[in-house]
Order: sequence, then structure tokens, then C-alpha cells
Amino acid sequence: MQRFEGRVALVTGASRGIGKATALRLAAEGASVIVNYARSRDAAEALAAAIVAGGGRAVALQADVGEAAAVAALVHEAERRLGPIDVLVNNAGQLVTGRALELDATRLGEAMRINVLAAAHGAAAVAPGMRARGRGRIVNVAATSAFGTTVSSIAPHALAKASVVLLTKQLAADLGPDGITVNAICPGAIDTETTLPGGALHEALRATRAQQRAHTLLGRAGTAAEAAAVIAFLASDDAAFVTGQALSVDGGRTDFLTHSG
Ligand code: NAP
Repeated sequence: MQRFEGRVALVTGASRGIGKATALRLAAEGASVIVNYARSRDAAEALAAAIVAGGGRAVALQADVGEAAAVAALVHEAERRLGPIDVLVNNAGQLVTGRALELDATRLGEAMRINVLAAAHGAAAVAPGMRARGRGRIVNVAATSAFGTTVSSIAPHALAKASVVLLTKQLAADLGPDGITVNAICPGAIDTETTLPGGALHEALRATRAQQRAHTLLGRAGTAAEAAAVIAFLASDDAAFVTGQALSVDGGRTDFLTHSG
């Protein structure tokens, strides 16, 4: 069954990692996909080309989703190229590190800009069209750090991801009467090109990742495809009666930390 036949999906930060896996998954299930990126043009264009080569519809569009005007322009251009957006996946993110005692406006502001304002601006840009059509799906990518089950030194990131969860619930309340669902996934440790050997964050996160694997019920990190599968569920009609939820995709890390001995 092609759950997204005739649907258009915008995935932010889709040049690699969870966003890329989500674009591939939605396209494999019939969606026309906008592959958004900020800097990685070659990777985004290669992904869109691969989807088209496989018989799908896709375009790569640049936009820094931390900028409201850029998001509005992105949605306008996306709809001009592929048609009205049915699914928005607010996935783009960057890990802004720092200890809670050293929190400053610059780092917290950057984490909030990329994670929270980007999702809010994305929702605002697609909401009028979704409201007019009486349906839509918005999936935000938060993190288990939103619940405090985190490692230290990522205070700006954790605060912003907690805000993404609350933003999800506020948006769900505002948009529910119009037939639009808004949900979040909260990934635990997910291996991506960035965190695997050779990736930009591999060395910096090596110790943290080992600890996360050990303190997770399934004893391993997840894959980007596993996170994408849950995003696709929440973006599909299968999740028509699910809204305002933050679903952990963490191999049982949250439960390990809260209930295990
Ligand atoms: P990733 O591999 O580092 O990829 C990040 C993506 O976001 C890239 O495509 C990047 O594109 C894009 N991006 C960054 N800043 C952007 C901006 N301002 N505007 C538009 N695109 C932007 O990340 P990931 O690990 O797949 O993570 C994806 C999401 O899952 C993030 O929200 C992250 O916080 C969340 N998450 C990940 C994990 C994990 O273990 N991997 C765990 C919890 C939560 P460019 O290169 O073009 O900038």
C-alpha cells in the first residue's frame, strides 16, 4: 500500500541523517518530496536526483529554516514546484552544546532558533493551506533530552528540545479543529553519517554514544531508517487519531534510566 500516493511532503534538513532517511521513506511510499538543506547542496541534490531516478518526484531547495522569511519563501517555492504541502517534517537541527551553569543568550538563542522557531515558522507557513484543505500532518523532531534523560553539557540543546515538545502540543491544540495533527518524535541515540566513524561528530560523541548504548534497553543505537519509519507513521493516515504526542524512539533508553536498577 502506498500511504503517501498523491501527497506532497516537505522534510527540513534532509541532506543527510534522519531527514534523508525520512525523505527516502516517504518517497518510497509515494510522496513527492522537497529535500530542504542549508549548506549541503550537493548531497541534497544527489538525494532528490536519486528519488527521481527511482521513479519518484523530488526537488532540493535551500533555506536556513531558522529564518522566518526563508521558511515562507521555501514553502512558497515548494508548492509552486510540487503542489500543496500535505506533510511537514520539521527535522533540521544542530547540536548546540554547553553546560547549564554557563548558559548564555547566544548559545540558547541559536538552539531555540534552529529547533523551536524553525518548527514554529514551518507550521505557520503551511497552516493556511492545510486549514483550507481541512487536513495536514506536521511532525517535529525533538529528542529524549527534552525529558531530562540526557548527558551533561548539552543544556541549550535539551532546553530547546523540551520547547519543541511543548510547541508540538500548542500547535496540536490550535490546528486540531482544522483536521491537522501535530506530533513529535523524540529520538535517543541514532547513528547517522555525522556520528558514525568518519563523521564530523564521531570523535566528540564517542564516549557519550558508548554510554547511551549501554544504558538503553535494546543495548544499541538506532538507525536513521528506524526513526524515519516512526515519522512516516505519524505523517500517515494510520495516525489519524494521534495528535499532540511526543513519541520516544530510543530503544528503551528513557525506561532504562527511569525504571532499571
Ligand atoms: P545531521 O545528520 O547532523 O543532519 C542535520 C540536517 O539538518 C542536515 O541535513 C543539515 O543540512 C540540516 N540543517 C542544519 N541546520 C539547518 C538549517 N538552519 N536550515 C536547514 N537545514 C539545516 O542530524 P541528525 O542526527 O539526522 O538529526 C536530525 C534531527 O534529529 C535533529 O533535529 C536532531 O536534533 C534530532 N536528533 C538526532 C539524534 C541522533 O542521535 N542523531 C538524537 C536526538 C535528536 P546542511 O548540512 O545543509 O546544513
